[in-house]
Order: sequence, then structure tokens, then C-alpha cells
Amino acid sequence: MALKYKRILLKLSGEALAGEKGFGLDYSVITNICKSIKECADLGAQIAIVVGGGNFWRGRSSGAMDRTRADHIGMLGTTMNALAVADVLEELGVDVRVQTAIAMQEVAEPYIRNRAVRHLEKGRIVIFGCGTGNPFFSTDTASSLRAAEIEADVIFKATMVDGIYDKDPHKYADAVKFDELTFSDVLAKGLQVMDSTAASMCKDNNISILVFNLNDPQNIVKAAQGETVGTI
Ligand code: UDP
Repeated sequence: MALKYKRILLKLSGEALAGEKGFGLDYSVITNICKSIKECADLGAQIAIVVGGGNFWRGRSSGAMDRTRADHIGMLGTTMNALAVADVLEELGVDVRVQTAIAMQEVAEPYIRNRAVRHLEKGRIVIFGCGTGNPFFSTDTASSLRAAEIEADVIFKATMVDGIYDKDPHKYADAVKFDELTFSDVLAKGLQVMDSTAASMCKDNNISILVFNLNDPQNIVKAAQGETVGTI
């Protein structure tokens, strides 16, 4: 099956890497995700990944700690995830580069937009660590920003639910799933899809987001081929 999207920005939340434990890294879960990412790349998709850090730390729930410092810790957490995902992809034989928004040159390349695009054109997967490099932002906003910069065709937001509902499907049996939504709907209805900074950024730059369930990592491949999974 042909690809619907050529250049994909995949957002992997930290939670998605932690499996059942909800904390840290679950390598069997990460391996399954990476196998699907590889399958997608083998079909010819160019894939850039923004990793979250919620499996280690979230600045906004760090209690009394100074927010900027807490967010610095959060960004370091995303980089740990970036390195772990890179390692698993490499084990699977994928060519991969990690770029971080905060320079740590002994560990990863610094984020350089043109260089990232060049990697993608050469068939390498690029993983972006440290979010935007700034406190008070999220990795969802980093996804919107990087997607705009590298001119991605779409953002895949792989989550733990199979799309966007009018209310929490874990709490309400009558929750209704949307197939399609506009960013104005998301902002107006206050839907918990992504934070408003990330949503505004996508709206202003005309970037589509497909939200789907990562419990079945094959959804990444299906989504790339344009099958209906989740909510666009
Ligand atoms: N973070 C930040 N700036 C960014 C991206 C992330 O300061 O541009 C920090 C922030 O503390 C955040 C943490 O990194 O809570 C982990 O990112 P996020 O909460 O977006 O991860 P996810 O929920 O996707 O796992």
C-alpha cells in the first residue's frame, strides 16, 4: 500500500515508553514501537520523532521546585528517552541520529534544522530531545515547532487512547469519539488533546495532527498509509 504521508513527525509520550509500570522504560514495549517505526521507514516514510519525558519527570507537577529548574530536569528526561529509543532502533538496524535543543555535544548532535532535514532525506530517523529547549513549554509544542520547521506533512500523536472523545472514555461509557476536529474546536471545547500553545501553533501553521492509540504500534504503519485510525 502506498504512503499517504511522506514526512512524518511522530510524537511519543514518555508514558508510551513506560508500559504498564507507568515509570521508566519498558524495553519490550519500546521494541514493539520501534519495529513499527522501522516498518514505516522501510516503506519510504521519512520519520522524525519528538519524545516526551513524563515517564521520568514533569515540570508542571514538580511541587515546590522552581519551575524553570523543574523544566530543565524534564528536558533532560526527554533526552534519556531519546537515547533509549535511538538505541533500540539501532539494534533493529535503523540508521538514527539524536539531536538535542540544549547542546550536549558529547552525547548527541545539537539541533540544526538543515542537518535534520538532510538526515531525513538520507533515510535516517532523527530523534529530537530536550523539547523546544525552553522551560514552560511541552514536548507537544516541540512537536508542532519541529513539524513546522522540517515541513512535516503531519504530526502523529501516539497516545494511550484511540482518538479524541467529547469526554474521558475511561470515566464515561457514553463518551463519543470524533473522527475529525478543527483546532478551533479543540480550543473552544477545551478538549484535553494537547496544550493550547501546541494547538495554536498547529492552527497558525496549518499542520494536521492525527491522534491514535499506540497500544497497537501497527497503528503507526496504518496511519502512514492513510487508514482511518484515531482522530485527525
Ligand atoms: N519540557 C520543557 N520544555 C519543552 C519540552 C519539555 O521544559 O520544550 C519539560 C517539562 O518539564 C515537561 C517535561 O520536559 O513536563 C517532559 O515533557 P512532557 O511533559 O511534554 O512529556 P510527555 O507528557 O509527552 O511525556
